[in-house]
Amino acid sequence: MSSYYIWTVGCQMNKADSERLAASLEEAGYASSSRVEDADLVILNSCAVRQSAENRVIGKLSTLKRLKAERPSLLLALTGCMVDYQESDLRRRFPYVDAFFKPQAVGDLLGFVGAAPNGQPALPARPSVCAFVPIIQGCDNFCTYCIVPFRRGREKSRPPAEIRCEVERLVARGVREVTLLGQNVDSYGHDLANGYDLARLLQELNTLPGLERIRFLTSHPEDMTRGLIEAVAGLEKVCEHVNLPLQSGDDDILQAMRRAYTVSQYCDLAGRIRTAIPGVSLSTDIIVGFPGETEEQFRRTAEVLGELRFDTVHVAAYSPRVGTAAARMEDSVPFVEKKRRLDEIEALQEGIAAETNAKLLGAVEEVLVEGQRGGKWFGRTRTNKLVFFCDAGNRYGQMVDIVIEKASPWALQGSLRGRKEG
Ligand code: SAH
Ligand code: SF4
Repeated sequence: MSSYYIWTVGCQMNKADSERLAASLEEAGYASSSRVEDADLVILNSCAVRQSAENRVIGKLSTLKRLKAERPSLLLALTGCMVDYQESDLRRRFPYVDAFFKPQAVGDLLGFVGAAPNGQPALPARPSVCAFVPIIQGCDNFCTYCIVPFRRGREKSRPPAEIRCEVERLVARGVREVTLLGQNVDSYGHDLANGYDLARLLQELNTLPGLERIRFLTSHPEDMTRGLIEAVAGLEKVCEHVNLPLQSGDDDILQAMRRAYTVSQYCDLAGRIRTAIPGVSLSTDIIVGFPGETEEQFRRTAEVLGELRFDTVHVAAYSPRVGTAAARMEDSVPFVEKKRRLDEIEALQEGIAAETNAKLLGAVEEVLVEGQRGGKWFGRTRTNKLVFFCDAGNRYGQMVDIVIEKASPWALQGSLRGRKEG
């Protein structure tokens, strides 16, 4: 039997794609290999959102080049956001790679390895209790810094019936929490008939027996409708957590990024979400050092973060991506200055998260146990906070109540109060 190994770099979308790819290969008779050195087929699922991610992929490619030289029968394939519409450049740079395929074209890879796709997305044979479900591919926004629309194509929503069926199959295999994925997950349905939207999909999934939690990522502020906020507030399985990338706290920078909202519109939206959904946790993405960002404009970002007090902030230093509109602007902020701004945001957020999480001391949080790490069980609260606890029993896959006893900016620790039904 042939074996495969998948190396994944990048976001949840890539991880979800890799899981599906693995499942298709297993259906086609491939076995998973625990070591890259032993596999007959190695697939590298790449990310190109920032140069640092691309560099990681290139590092892995050089390891693969060595393996291929030692063992020429090894098959190598590259997929993910590094594969663009012109493969010739990639073929020239990485001639030892046997196949390149776009993330939307998993069927091409299956054809290449002689495992014709059957049309239905394969599901992981042994999914964990939490699963990712892509519901909308691509992006129509073209934020000026972003490579995603060029590599993932235009937005395309999966039919609701197909998603429902997939979630039912996952639940039948033990999944209790699903995260619906999309680059712009809240614009789900705009290309479907009858005004079908994410709020409606959440309503339908909320009725599935056995499914206990529903999350969705990533929301674009422009597409966060009142109906969607109401759905999150009113549906008991939909978790109180919204990832809403702000990117910058300065209106001119937002406009140069083509983000289509102002800081005050964003703050207003965040306020409405917090009023409608008590206890909601908000997370955001920030880019520092966008072309032309002055110290004053950067200060405004820090101020807004200080005012909005997010639960989590993902901050990145601006990285020019060839082909995007921003790459034609002067990359005016030197690297050391980008790094200083990044460090400042991280330090600011660390303080905010420490205070926010400390408020949970003594509280009882519902945690879905995902596994063990360093001898402790871990899982997440409905608000997506990581919680560790010790227990001698097997708690995998259980919904437990944890009394929070320790808090840090990144995680919580506590002890078991009692097992919930279900
Ligand atoms: N669709 C999501 C995010 C997609 S990319 C959104 O609209 O926000 C994930 C994150 O990577 C972005 O939120 C952004 O903060 C960061 N990012 C994207 N392109 C980048 C670039 N060229 N340089 C630095 N960070 C970037
Ligand atoms: Fe990129 Fe903007 Fe689309 Fe997000 S919304 S994927 S940042 S273009």
